[in-house]
Amino acid sequence: MATLRVLIIGSGGREHALAWKLSLTEDIQCPIVSADFPALVDFAVQHEVSLVLPGPEQPLVDGIETYFRKVGIPVFGPSALAARMEGSKAFSKAFMDRHNIPTAKFRVFPSSHVDQAIEYVRTCGFKVVLKASGLAAGKGVLIPETEEEAVAGLKEIMVDNVFGPAGSEVVVEEFMTGPEVSVLAFSDGYTITPLPAAQDHKRIGEGDTGLNTGGMGAYAPAPVATPAVMNQIMKDVLKPTIDGCEERFSEGFPFVGMLFTGLMLTASGPKVLEYNVRFGDPETEALLLLLAEETDLATILLACVEHRLDSVQVKTRPGFGVSVVLASQGYPGNYAKDKALLLDSSLQVHVFTFHAGTTVSNGKTVTSGGRVIAVSAYAPTLREALMQCISESNRSLSKVKFQKRHCSPSSDNKPFWGAKVDLCT
Ligand code: AMP
Repeated sequence: MATLRVLIIGSGGREHALAWKLSLTEDIQCPIVSADFPALVDFAVQHEVSLVLPGPEQPLVDGIETYFRKVGIPVFGPSALAARMEGSKAFSKAFMDRHNIPTAKFRVFPSSHVDQAIEYVRTCGFKVVLKASGLAAGKGVLIPETEEEAVAGLKEIMVDNVFGPAGSEVVVEEFMTGPEVSVLAFSDGYTITPLPAAQDHKRIGEGDTGLNTGGMGAYAPAPVATPAVMNQIMKDVLKPTIDGCEERFSEGFPFVGMLFTGLMLTASGPKVLEYNVRFGDPETEALLLLLAEETDLATILLACVEHRLDSVQVKTRPGFGVSVVLASQGYPGNYAKDKALLLDSSLQVHVFTFHAGTTVSNGKTVTSGGRVIAVSAYAPTLREALMQCISESNRSLSKVKFQKRHCSPSSDNKPFWGAKVDLCT
């Protein structure tokens, strides 16, 4: 195949992992901010880019795909219309309702209708979850314990605008229980091919405690997603989702890109918590390690944008991928930046340090974000992969003040993790 030039938009661990998997030998740093679409298009044209791969959701929701389509450069990612699956929870819930895709019972209220929303939580007869409909950097969900807390939560979102414009519509839905899994699936608009299910660890503290973060670690495959569960997810969720998007073809709404579905495995079957329209972070850092060596990511991405995913094989290998995030002390609250990083380059085979929040200052690599490095490992067992991540973290990064958290995605999986490791250096 001729050399493929890929423009990856974004600067986190996910994007580093994608660049690594695409085997980009020569990379060009592009200092353009990812919101400046015309400048990105100029850059891509000038550098003869053949494929654009946006990492985060915001540019997709803001319509980056149209800008590149106009100059004939394909984007591995949905149009703005299809990106509403993540950009508006009100939209995605109505979509699921229309297509009989299993999800929690719900109602949507515009922020001007706070009284009706309060009336609903007082009379619906179930514990509720409150969600700002728009993009809120993963923070727009409240899980009140009591009816009074729910009423207070509604006022915070709808009257006090704590989530800003993301809260201009609110989804009130039924609280569900069960283990959670994330299923990332390639789609060309007609065919959908999932990767093994992953589980992530959202909170900062051990034992699922403390504040929510962008994600402190992930692993895959999640044993809870047995082949039977994956078949059910494919049949009841993924296929109807892609078919539902395709139905709207005339509106520019087939879904091309990575469909990331968050699911809860409830007693009455898998139910959708949310859709994302891009690779997950840190799931990607773990999942890409599972692609078989003969599976070329660029070939898959191209097949998706050319609507011929059924002509390629997405092969994974047995074993486990784990990703552990090393975060700046204080994250997700205030944290210091510009801490020097001393990375040991002699990592073990199958262990990778993906940069999530680093930059180069005066010739030295320093921290620049809350999530700094995703140490990721592949091994035949989950325990081995996790232990490799942790031992590499301690060895490579011992000179830097970090909080390091190992992933403990659900108490069901605790036996896998073994001894708790003291990770504060
Ligand atoms: P979301 O952004 O919609 O995925 O919600 C973020 C997190 O809130 C999920 O990962 C769940 O842990 C929790 N959550 C969301 N919706 C529900 C629900 N209906 N029942 C229980 N937990 C939920």
